[in-house]
Amino acid sequence: MDKKWKPVVVAVALGVILPQLLLSAVRQRPLSEPAETLTPTQQETQLSPSARSTYLPVLTAENSIHVMELEAYVLGVVLAEMPAEFEMEALKAQAVVARTYALRRLSRQDRHADVAVCADPNCCQAYMTEEEFLQKGETVSGLEKIARAVEATKGQVLIYGGALIEATYFSCSGGRTEDAVAVWGEVIPYLQAVDSPGEENAEKYWEEVHFTAEEFEDALGRDLSGTPRSWLGKRTFTAGGGVQTMVIGGIAYTGTQLRQLLGLNSTAFTMAAEDGGITVETLGKGHRVGMSQYGADAMARGGSSYDEILMHYYPGTRIDKTENIL
Ligand SMILES: [Zn+2]
Repeated sequence: MDKKWKPVVVAVALGVILPQLLLSAVRQRPLSEPAETLTPTQQETQLSPSARSTYLPVLTAENSIHVMELEAYVLGVVLAEMPAEFEMEALKAQAVVARTYALRRLSRQDRHADVAVCADPNCCQAYMTEEEFLQKGETVSGLEKIARAVEATKGQVLIYGGALIEATYFSCSGGRTEDAVAVWGEVIPYLQAVDSPGEENAEKYWEEVHFTAEEFEDALGRDLSGTPRSWLGKRTFTAGGGVQTMVIGGIAYTGTQLRQLLGLNSTAFTMAAEDGGITVETLGKGHRVGMSQYGADAMARGGSSYDEILMHYYPGTRIDKTENIL
């Protein structure tokens, strides 16, 4: 069997076989009893794809593999990824995005060999149990609110051209999201730069970091000649207002390289040189591609529904049901 499809087959098999086993155990009818004695409701339960559950293998933060039911997993992601204080429509948008992201990983198995997703937010999506959510001081009403958001969007995913989309998201854009091509080098029609107003209250909306001349050179791993005022050269920008390229000390870096080397919140930065070093101002946090979580909350506060939020951040996509995709 193609290794790529193994988790999918396992997950689908679990989704189909487990409910069938449970159903037959509950029924406890003799094997000879004809199937037509089933009530129409029971037949529908057996035949309707919507009654199937989907399971996915998840690598937990404790480094163990748990096979989780999809909706339970999505609840854990929203608990970990978005504050319960956010608007209900933003939480619903987050639930659809988390579900879409997970199912795309499950169907492609392109990030991990033996699991669909992990619980590391820098790789896949953060995840926490209901107990962990409450232990960190969150409230039962917050838990119930997020559970309602997941339930209200149960089975809903985002598709483009008949396939699950790459539903990337991040904390805060600083006012405008980024093109996928600017970050990953690939043009993705529904991951284009869009305006993202109303994020000013986000903790990481704006940040200033100062580097001494020595710290700056250490971060780049180079000795730069002259004074800091002579180091900074020409910049080019992306459609999302990020730095595409920047020349420093005669060498051109990409914005993503500089973000990594200097440990910046995003590629949407400006640099200013003084005698003592370099000051960097950054807007937003994360890769800035796809849905801004703070932007989604701002849209919801302005009266937008979750589907309007999703259509704004993933233009050209539409919402469909899981059973139509898998
Ligand atoms: Zn991962």
